[in-house]
Amino acid sequence: MHCPFCQEPDTRVIDSRLISDGAQIRRRRECARCGDRFTTFESAELLMPHVIKHDNRRNPFDLQKLRQGILRALEKRPISNEQIEAAIKHIQHQLLACGEREVPSQLIGEYVMNALRALDEVAYIRFASVYRRFQDVKEFHAEIQSLEKKD
Ligand SMILES: [Zn+2]
Repeated sequence: MHCPFCQEPDTRVIDSRLISDGAQIRRRRECARCGDRFTTFESAELLMPHVIKHDNRRNPFDLQKLRQGILRALEKRPISNEQIEAAIKHIQHQLLACGEREVPSQLIGEYVMNALRALDEVAYIRFASVYRRFQDVKEFHAEIQSLEKKD
């Protein structure tokens, strides 16, 4: 990392320690040219990415909206709250782990479809038919047939 005082590219770490119960690393660095010292902090970036809508607007990630979409698809289906919460956690985890600061809303849609497909095929078809706006009945049947083949 460059020296913030003289921009010398060569600085070295003279001390490094875990802080905040291991959630951060604090490093003392020394510049090889001017000899000044400075501190850096390293921590995992755990911010949900922003969502890029179809019209290119950016919105903050909306957990409520995600949950509502999943609950709507699973209405009256024999799926427990624990399973639903686990699926939502998994989707959030995927979004954090992708490392992007912005993701297209389609990506979240794909994650939801994958999660529903594993949970309940009826819910999956419900969600997919709204989300993908199946062009016609033929397309809808093709999707159902691909599910039947999977069994
Ligand atoms: Zn320097």
